[in-house]
Amino acid sequence: MPADTANHSVMIAKATEALLARRPTYKNLLQFYRDIFLSQESIRLQIQIAPIDLPEELVALKQQENFPLIAMSEFNFDQAGSTRLLKTVCETIQRHNTELSDFAMTILQADAGVFDTQRLFKALLKEDNVFIVQVAQTLGVDAKALAFVVYTSLRPSIIACAGQLAARLEKRPGWLNGYCPICGNYPGLATLNEQGHSILHCHFCWHAWTVKRVFCPFCGSTDGQSQRYFYSEQEENLRVNLCDRCGKYIKGVDIRKSDYPVYPPLEKVTTLHLDIKAQEEGYQSGIELALNG
Ligand SMILES: [Zn+2]
Ligand SMILES: [Zn+2]
Repeated sequence: MPADTANHSVMIAKATEALLARRPTYKNLLQFYRDIFLSQESIRLQIQIAPIDLPEELVALKQQENFPLIAMSEFNFDQAGSTRLLKTVCETIQRHNTELSDFAMTILQADAGVFDTQRLFKALLKEDNVFIVQVAQTLGVDAKALAFVVYTSLRPSIIACAGQLAARLEKRPGWLNGYCPICGNYPGLATLNEQGHSILHCHFCWHAWTVKRVFCPFCGSTDGQSQRYFYSEQEENLRVNLCDRCGKYIKGVDIRKSDYPVYPPLEKVTTLHLDIKAQEEGYQSGIELALNG
């Protein structure tokens, strides 16, 4: 991802513009996510993330043993920035008049005693679903929608934290696993870059890493016989990689065939027709779809 945030925002705006012409049925979703991603970029400029203390020997050892650098619960986050973003995300949901408008209003009006953002942020990072479900039940809202809003609000911190850790891995290429070298989560999207290299994008921290061209990130298979793919009928730069060994699929974008800027998180949430097609063919997503965005 480009280091310069201003360029990043321009890229999101340009990518949305291009996709509005190519995927008109996604108009509402594209405009909604454009606003969400732009808000996240703006918060990313303002936040301060304390560096994670990880001695060089530990980085080396974890890499050698194929362990990710940190667990999800170890991500640092900016409490004030994430709380500001949570409010903006709820306002964006209301502005776009989505089916979650009532949910957003309940969250915006929730009493701070019940709606403790710091505990919610920590619960999401610890994968403490029990706490998230409890808060959702107390407020009478959908727990998945609540998890989505909490993750979306934390995302600038998560990306900033992953960016700091990625710098530690620069001199250590060669991570060939299907899970993220930073946080251990699976990829939400694959891209083929200009050189034809296969890049995986973590669906949680959005770190990107290079893997072998024929490779299933979910079971590690490199057997060409078990790896297939199909192209989107409407857009030839979109494809879905299918694995007959584990029955999972991952969506992909071929950058060489894309005549617009590709912003991976936007591609992931506006290609749901490919998820449907892959699932109709009997394949399962390799990731939890609730964290879209
Ligand atoms: Zn990750
Ligand atoms: Zn597989």
